[in-house]
Amino acid sequence: MSAETNQNSTAPNTISIDGREIPFKAGQTIMDAALAAGVYIPHLCHRPGLTPHGSCKLCTVDIASRDFASHNSDRRVQIKFSVDADSRSVSACTAPAIAGQQISNNTPALNEVRKTITQMLFIEGNHLCPSCEKSGNCTLQAVAYHLGMLDGHFPQFFPHREVDASHPTVMLDRDRCILCELCVRASREVDGKNVFAIAGRGTTAHLIVNSPSGKLADSGLETGDMAVHICPVGAILIKEHGYEVPIGRRTFDLHQVGEIGLEKIVLAKTRHTDE
Ligand code: SF4
Ligand code: SF4
Repeated sequence: MSAETNQNSTAPNTISIDGREIPFKAGQTIMDAALAAGVYIPHLCHRPGLTPHGSCKLCTVDIASRDFASHNSDRRVQIKFSVDADSRSVSACTAPAIAGQQISNNTPALNEVRKTITQMLFIEGNHLCPSCEKSGNCTLQAVAYHLGMLDGHFPQFFPHREVDASHPTVMLDRDRCILCELCVRASREVDGKNVFAIAGRGTTAHLIVNSPSGKLADSGLETGDMAVHICPVGAILIKEHGYEVPIGRRTFDLHQVGEIGLEKIVLAKTRHTDE
């Protein structure tokens, strides 16, 4: 029986992640079902409540090909990372949960792929953690620790990126932007503003501000907007609140990145009483 047929039968809607049976509801993605069951799938560009984006690829999982026509056919990926050639790789945040899926998530091969992606994110930007206000509250840094990343591995790009300090309360340092588009979606879908967008493609892709001058000062951004608080790295920061929480008492000093529901804690901690 195909997975699609099984979904329409009276069989309970469950998928298997690393051998654990997990229920799901119609319309949920693999990520939705995993999070609801307390299973961590590493991710950076996903946030419950916002439209899934599938861009960071950290949440790549393998689905056994038994029930599927397509295979993981990229031989270069298979050889480099020992990925199972009889499986199909998908982004868990965008792939629908389908009854009967046999999913691999927390495997050495997949975590090696994730570590390589994380290393690329570090070297593509300018990430100098010891001098970054986000250190300890940064999801990229926490994921790097989680995956056992010890260095950037690849040569540094050292890109020249524009810093926008024009706004009275918000600072945009594109050096640390990983193009996750969380701020883009939060501004559009929650704040109802559309302050941010991504322009360019590939290595020229960069975050832009939708305002007459292209500066934050000219935009409708306000300190209380979700777009200001959702950045997983230190690209969007609130001015005049740096280092209020000392290193050693920050989110990822106290929590593992794999703890489910941590996004809410991070969001709450970045809000300030004077907003
Ligand atoms: Fe380090 Fe995160 Fe700051 Fe980048 S944004 S420098 S990874 S703490
Ligand atoms: Fe993502 Fe932050 Fe860059 Fe926006 S500024 S795209 S939230 S990393």
